[in-house]
Amino acid sequence: MRGNLYIVSAPSGSGKTTLLQHLLRSLKDLKFSVSYTTRRPRQGEQNGMDYFFIDRAAFLRMVEGGQFLEWAEFNGELYGTGRVFVHEQLDTGKDVILDIDVQGTKQVKSKMQDATAIFILPPSFAELERRLKMRMLEPADVIRRRLEIAKGEIQFYRDYDYIIINEVLQNSILLLESIVRSGTVKPQRQQARVEEIIASFGGRA
Ligand code: 5GP
Repeated sequence: MRGNLYIVSAPSGSGKTTLLQHLLRSLKDLKFSVSYTTRRPRQGEQNGMDYFFIDRAAFLRMVEGGQFLEWAEFNGELYGTGRVFVHEQLDTGKDVILDIDVQGTKQVKSKMQDATAIFILPPSFAELERRLKMRMLEPADVIRRRLEIAKGEIQFYRDYDYIIINEVLQNSILLLESIVRSGTVKPQRQQARVEEIIASFGGRA
């Protein structure tokens, strides 16, 4: 029985990281795929936890070796999802969640049609701007660049199965969790158990 694959994308500052943290805390069996990236770690980020931080040469060697399920250039840096990790988890029945951009989602969806893609949107452009500035993690020019990128990214909302407008955090947490939990009651995820139940009816006809 294969696990389900989930994809979450969002413009930077939409609250995606917070939502994912809540989700992974409440769904202990859900596996987060740690991506590879050429960008520098931000304060507090840990290698192997938030990303595998590697240099461009190493990244390109992995591309050559076919080690990525998908990869893309975002804001001048390379980001990619390890192919083996995702397949190993899915093959052993684990659900996996990817935090990737809109380009990566297109690639994964073309290879794995049954992946469930979720897009997180801020309630408005002004709110996104406010959140990015409040975060005070980056200089003004980087924030401007992120906002420009966001304008392009939101055009891809049609590639997604679900859209969560992250207005009230608690509601968004519930919605995201419901989407992932509902995947566990799909018939294909319960086949073995259902067959047992049906067999148990066998002698009673
Ligand atoms: P950040 O640098 O803010 O951590 O991430 C920038 C963007 O890259 C985000 O939209 C994030 O979802 C995306 N991203 C992170 N990992 C991957 C990956 O493995 N593949 C792709 N395509 N995008 C990624």
